[in-house]
Amino acid sequence: MTSVERYEKALAVLDQYIRDNNLRHTLEREQLLKIISELNKPIFTVHDLDAKRRDAHISLPTLYNSLGLFVSARILYKLERTHGVTQEQYKWALDAKNSMRVICTRCGREAAFNDKALLQIVHNRKYANFVPAHFSLYVYGVCKTCRRLLIQRNN
Ligand SMILES: [Zn+2]
Repeated sequence: MTSVERYEKALAVLDQYIRDNNLRHTLEREQLLKIISELNKPIFTVHDLDAKRRDAHISLPTLYNSLGLFVSARILYKLERTHGVTQEQYKWALDAKNSMRVICTRCGREAAFNDKALLQIVHNRKYANFVPAHFSLYVYGVCKTCRRLLIQRNN
């Protein structure tokens, strides 16, 4: 994904999140998404954003609030602080794709599907001692072609 593609995708996710949660649109959030996209780093810290944040006249509290919002909207992951790391690290969540697929157990044909309600259920579920990132879901069954062949054979 290029930085422009990533920015556009992130912006679309943010727009949807803002609409779903009746939040306010702010220019700062869009600017920050752009700054983060243009970093072109898989993992970054607040420090990495500092110079550009100042140039854009975005305050530190606004930066932290926005990062929190991006995490809630699943645009970013916040990585747990590990030993020796003094600043919180963030990682793009958009690159890791959730996958939902149907698979025919007779011919092996696969197809992707998308179900927003399912996505919400999996993400909003509470997991004991676990923070979910992304998931794969496979629905096994018989495709239309194989079903037709089976019916023909039985007749
Ligand atoms: Zn099949």
